[in-house]
Amino acid sequence: MGSSVERALEVLRDGGLVAIPTETVYGLAADASSDAAVARIFSAKGRPTDHPLIVHVATAQHLAEWAAEISPAAALLADTCWPGPLTLLVPKAAHVSAVVTGGLPTVGVRVPAHPLTTELLQRFGGGLAAPSANQFGKVSPTTAQHVLADLGHLVDYVLDGGPCPVGVESTIVDCSVDPPQILRPGGIAAEQISALLQGRLAPSAGPSRAAGMLAAHYAPTATVLLADTAEAAHSLAATRAGAWVLDRTDDLVEYARCLYADLRDADLRGVAIVVAVLPPPTGLGHAIRDRLTKAAATT
Ligand code: AMP
Ligand code: MG
Repeated sequence: MGSSVERALEVLRDGGLVAIPTETVYGLAADASSDAAVARIFSAKGRPTDHPLIVHVATAQHLAEWAAEISPAAALLADTCWPGPLTLLVPKAAHVSAVVTGGLPTVGVRVPAHPLTTELLQRFGGGLAAPSANQFGKVSPTTAQHVLADLGHLVDYVLDGGPCPVGVESTIVDCSVDPPQILRPGGIAAEQISALLQGRLAPSAGPSRAAGMLAAHYAPTATVLLADTAEAAHSLAATRAGAWVLDRTDDLVEYARCLYADLRDADLRGVAIVVAVLPPPTGLGHAIRDRLTKAAATT
């Protein structure tokens, strides 16, 4: 672990794995043009190989290198929202490996907003395939220490960029369909994307097409129960020994930023039950509700 972009570059050019800081969560990155390097991501995470990875690039100009076609909506969202917590699905360019896309005809691309990773991507030149740097199905990492705790021996270098300011994964918008469709709520609110597209945005629906859309995901060891209000959470917690109430609904930015650290904290303290208060379904509330609901699901 350290903050040497130079060291991270060497590891990536050697086909190794580097945990990278982003504004959302830490990513487990490998050279997206090397099937052997990308395969190591799947084995380190225990991630099923049909779950595609997001390709991270330095600037919006790089989108053209990964996409066979860029729709006007994709171009608008890339120009307006990048760097930022938005992943765009576009028809993949011929050279993009099926190992990265899970065999799909689309590729997910994003420009992350973190100074160390921007410098790394600029110097690397190519794309970095990266899912969240945690064991598949578990709580995502928002600090370098979280990555070390989960994958320490499996990652070649952890680039420490401090705690992630957004704290939940990117919003995924499928721009290979018309109108574009939200596949996963995340760090940019659906309302904001819908306004940019003048309402031409379909809500998420249909079969699971993103790993983060499986019913159960982001799960701590503690049992997670959900409540609609603080009062309901406290009455529920009162009936269970050692239950812990998670409620940051007074500040959704803070709720998202601290969510995964809070769930990890509960596990470190041996808390058996976390009763989480669901925020209202607006803005960042969509992403927080989504992650809490999946953390609470048992299948
Ligand atoms: P993670 O960073 O672990 O949340 O994983 C990245 C997310 O992006 C997963 O939910 C993937 O399934 C999703 N994703 C990336 N590329 C695609 C694609 N081409 N089609 C559908 N989902 C994708
Ligand atoms: Mg993940």
